[in-house]
Amino acid sequence: MNDAASSASPGLAAGVRWDLADLYPEPAEAALERDLDAAEAAALRFAERHRGRIAGLDARALAAAIDELEALLEPSARGAAYAGLRFAADTSLPANGALLQRVQERGSAVHNAIVFFQLEWVAVDDDAAAKLLADPALARRRHLLEAMRRYRPHVLSEPEEKLIEELANTGERAFSRLFDEILAAARFRVEEAGAVRECTEEEVLALLYDPGRERRQAGAAALTAGLRQHAHVLAFVFNTLVQNKATEDRLRAYPDPMAARHLSNEIEPKSVDALLAACERAHPLVQRYYRLKRRLLGLDELLDYDRYAPVGEARGAVPWAEAQRLVLAAYRDFSPVLAEIAGRFFERRWIDAELRPGKRGGAFSAGTVPSAHPYVLLNYTGTQRDVMTLAHELGHGAHQWLAREQGLFEQDTPLTLAETASVFGEMLVFRRLLREESDPKTRLALVCGKIEDAFATVFRQVVMTRFEQMLHEARRSEGELPIERISALWMEANRPMHGDAVRLTDDYGWWWLYIPHFVHSPFYCYAYAFGELLVLALLRRYDAEGDAFVPRYLELLRAGGSEAPAVLLARLGLDVTDPAFWEGGVALLAELVEEAERLAGA
Ligand SMILES: [Zn+2]
Repeated sequence: MNDAASSASPGLAAGVRWDLADLYPEPAEAALERDLDAAEAAALRFAERHRGRIAGLDARALAAAIDELEALLEPSARGAAYAGLRFAADTSLPANGALLQRVQERGSAVHNAIVFFQLEWVAVDDDAAAKLLADPALARRRHLLEAMRRYRPHVLSEPEEKLIEELANTGERAFSRLFDEILAAARFRVEEAGAVRECTEEEVLALLYDPGRERRQAGAAALTAGLRQHAHVLAFVFNTLVQNKATEDRLRAYPDPMAARHLSNEIEPKSVDALLAACERAHPLVQRYYRLKRRLLGLDELLDYDRYAPVGEARGAVPWAEAQRLVLAAYRDFSPVLAEIAGRFFERRWIDAELRPGKRGGAFSAGTVPSAHPYVLLNYTGTQRDVMTLAHELGHGAHQWLAREQGLFEQDTPLTLAETASVFGEMLVFRRLLREESDPKTRLALVCGKIEDAFATVFRQVVMTRFEQMLHEARRSEGELPIERISALWMEANRPMHGDAVRLTDDYGWWWLYIPHFVHSPFYCYAYAFGELLVLALLRRYDAEGDAFVPRYLELLRAGGSEAPAVLLARLGLDVTDPAFWEGGVALLAELVEEAERLAGA
């Protein structure tokens, strides 16, 4: 399937490539190798001095040991970030896959040399730990150390931890990489006007946003046919990873498939249950909107591939420079500080946006290390949705940039807060577009676009979470699952959201096969719903407080993962542990649907 002669064109962001020299100037290999050597040597020295002695350290010595760990891990994290980005930029180049594998293997050696630290720390008895944590010398590390101790019931012995880490390179991580390589190399044959065009995954997904129903239909058919062609291997990857997780969950005594994710998200399971339930109670709202959409499109029936059809006049493709101007202007309206940070991504080549064969699909912002800066990957095709994706990833980028001051260990937030600045950024762009637009038809198109994005971020992600729950439970009770069984679970999870307002075709049954979150980070998806509803609450604060809100918001971003989400949000007066909190966000989505109905003259 390595089709070097693919027709894929670079699209509207031709030439917009990132410059990875800030991580390693070319040729990178020698410097990267030196970093890995240095990290491994430092890790072994650290182990020589501290192994078997962590329980005996006083607060000051414990703080110094963590500082030392953070410093020694940074070069290894830099190498890993670089290898990951180079692989994402071209997954088809064998040298990039080999580099990623090498960095992972050497990263495991570093990890295994110092894993004793965490194991010895969580083994310290509670009273002694509490006394240490009360010491001002550990104030900056209190959250980190407490967070580690939550894993106390789930850690294994040192030799077991080392085995799991090392074998993951040829197990879990290898299958995850295989998934990326297959989808990046896949070509989807779109039939149009008697001719066949070979598309990448990005291009074929973009067709689902086309105003022409025949083109959407052709895109959907091509996506299905392409996925079916690879279904055997992709489903094998799913089955393997789902069982790998079941095995690890059993060994680590996690009570259910979501438990490990809740722990790393620093969220109580009952808060997640409240979030999911609040979203599911709003399914009638989703269906009410889809009935309006069917009427606006003038269709007898709304099919799955009609959900993203634009409402109203077809808007032309947005040139890259225009997308940049628009996003930066929207950021500047809110905060010049945020706009200045986002602007650097363009000026200093921290973005890779053109389409290229072999490039990873989708979009992301990678935080890298505190001594460098984040990098953003997009596949820019010029749709309105792509403009929002740019705003989204720059939100992540600005968040990661500001949180660098928390250091390597606490710069990253748990997933529950990871989608805050990204979704907030999208909202800023939406509001600016709406403010500048007086024509009711165009306003309607904008509001519909926002509703559909929000539905994809809230309700669709809740559906995906339910699908994952069913998938993991079915694999645990039924053994390896046939493709048809997984497809049936996917349809079962999707039906309650769409009801009788959208007809899901048989083709749609195959569309779980390309969702990377299921493969790379199980149970990631509810974090999107959390993020979107949280952002709606933040916007309400902003509207009430005006500019006084801005520095408080920037403080939230700067805090990174230095405290639990509920603690950071409490500083802004938000209580995410209150089940009613989520109802407030859903109510704001209902207002948007009402606005669409009003503009449509319903
Ligand atoms: Zn995101």
